[in-house]
Amino acid sequence: MMSGPSGVFNKIRHEIRYWLLRRLPTCQDLVPVLSESLERPLGARERLVVHAHLLTCVWCVWYLDQLRTLRDLAHRRAANSDDAQRSMLADAARERIRRRLSDARN
Ligand SMILES: [Zn+2]
Repeated sequence: MMSGPSGVFNKIRHEIRYWLLRRLPTCQDLVPVLSESLERPLGARERLVVHAHLLTCVWCVWYLDQLRTLRDLAHRRAANSDDAQRSMLADAARERIRRRLSDARN
């Protein structure tokens, strides 16, 4: 067995990791907090818990990444449909004005 300083360091690191994993909320606990983190600023404690969890959990890092991507896509789509709606309204207004003008002419 290796028992040099780096072996001890690795063992400690391993133990800290497991200590954290045992004490941190599970992924299941964290998922709602992750999605809320996109909608509201997290409290100091929540931020700490999320940050510590993300350090040890590649799945939640990936999940948060997916959430952000989805949110960005949804925002972009919402912005696009706002534009579409605005231009539809503009078309309707133009049509109304055109009709009123032609009514006035007759
Ligand atoms: Zn996780």
